[in-house]
Amino acid sequence: MTETIEAPAALRQIKHWIGGRAVAGASGRKGPVYNPATGRQAGEVDFATVEEVDAAVTAARAAFTTWREVSLAKRAEIFFNIRELVHERREEVARILVSEHGKVLSDAIGEVTRGLEVIEFCCGIPTLLKSEFSEQASTGIDVYSIRQPLGVVAGITPFNFPAMVPMWMWAPAIACGNTFVLKPSEKDPSASVWTAELLKEAGLPDGVFNVVHGDKVAVDAVLEHPGIAAVSFVGSTPIARYVYETATKNGKRCQALGGAKNHMIVLPDADIDMAADAAVSAAYGSAGERCMAISQVVAVGAVAQPLIEAIKERIPKVKVGDGLDPSSEMGPLITEAHRDKVASYVEGAPAEGATVLVDGREGAPEDGFFLKPSLIDNVKPGMKAYEDEIFGPVLGVTRVDTYDDAVKLVNDSPFGNGTAIFTRDGGAARQFQFDAQAGMVGINVPIPVPVAYYSFGGWKGSLFGDRHIYGPEGIDFYTRGKVVTSRWPDPATSKVDLGFPQTR
Ligand code: NAD
Repeated sequence: MTETIEAPAALRQIKHWIGGRAVAGASGRKGPVYNPATGRQAGEVDFATVEEVDAAVTAARAAFTTWREVSLAKRAEIFFNIRELVHERREEVARILVSEHGKVLSDAIGEVTRGLEVIEFCCGIPTLLKSEFSEQASTGIDVYSIRQPLGVVAGITPFNFPAMVPMWMWAPAIACGNTFVLKPSEKDPSASVWTAELLKEAGLPDGVFNVVHGDKVAVDAVLEHPGIAAVSFVGSTPIARYVYETATKNGKRCQALGGAKNHMIVLPDADIDMAADAAVSAAYGSAGERCMAISQVVAVGAVAQPLIEAIKERIPKVKVGDGLDPSSEMGPLITEAHRDKVASYVEGAPAEGATVLVDGREGAPEDGFFLKPSLIDNVKPGMKAYEDEIFGPVLGVTRVDTYDDAVKLVNDSPFGNGTAIFTRDGGAARQFQFDAQAGMVGINVPIPVPVAYYSFGGWKGSLFGDRHIYGPEGIDFYTRGKVVTSRWPDPATSKVDLGFPQTR
């Protein structure tokens, strides 16, 4: 009998996008793109050379000359078109996210919807760029400020939000009149190419938005390119630090958002069911691969035992599976190597003195990069499971005696992205808002990602630079100020005066 072997499906080729069209990479260097739910390679992405990054910057530079002259009214019109198209097709891009990232479809649609909020904010660009005017600052003299775009700006983005995080960057950058070069994560790059095609269809001129794929070679080419004025980065803390230092050394403005380890404090008076629902949702949603995930619960006093019981009761109900299966609530991790690294924290916990209450290595689907939710009790500072950003579905619990002990843990952390408190006591919540050394605080809200008209960003090792991303600080980051002092000839007051101009 002849055995028939099914030929492997052709790998999808993922190309750069330069000057309004797809461009195949010339280097021959490529990276694999997997479907994390099956564990099989589905595509390969071209890795850019220094010359290809330069070609993207050259296209963006040429487009800047005309794009910065496009009226605010026309820019707003294009942004309304973009908003309509993304809204109409959000499920289409969400399916791309599921196939390369692994998150479940409802979560992927949620990602696109939160990114859409930033695009909607940018539809108001005429209002956002309104400036100040002081009439008669001195006699016959008016003073006003304007904000102008920087030129070509770049974004370097992580794997965990392949559509939303780029939207945090390109939308305000382009609305402000800049042109853009995006270097997305090489692990799930297709959403960026989808975005490029959509922006073209929405009427964005060629060259305003460009995509170069790749690894460190492409990132370094961006950081060192003299034609790039500013760099936005989102990713892990060591790379964020490197990007910030290299970009600023090369004279660029830079905002580099790093990793996180977000603590959720639960006070003894908290609503236990609400806190347990929140902890499970925020720890295991998107398989814990969110920079705003809750990775550490800090249980104060007697709340620990009932809270842990409530969390344990909920964990077996979390449905783990392929993100396209409508019954799945949690998908796989991004790669096999990452899945194994996350699992190693569960394996190593007992030797450090922690107690594994739920072991996510047991019963995980065999195909694909799956790990089920894990819960570890008695996690303490100094343990690897406490100190490291695990970035997977592993929730640690630290038991402390007082509110002060809990706040000390938050404030001693080298990260300062998000944190949350669960309590019914308004005074305690207000005190926490005052005390917490983190950029985003939730009060009975576990994932306090700010709405688009505020700005997103952490403190300490979670952000290098002095501007948070999107919202008003995003507009500030992508523009620079100019102040004009003006007077018009008035024969009645004109005279020669060699003195230093004084306010009159
Ligand atoms: P990562 O730091 O590995 O990669 C981010 C980007 O940097 C990618 O485009 C990648 O190609 C590039 N890169 C990786 N190694 C590099 C190197 N040695 N030199 C130059 N460039 C390099 O991050 P990731 O694994 O894609 O994403 C997960 C991380 O991102 C987590 O730490 C998470 O907390 C963080 N994150 C932070 C935020 C935030 O807002 N603070 C949001 C999302 C994700």
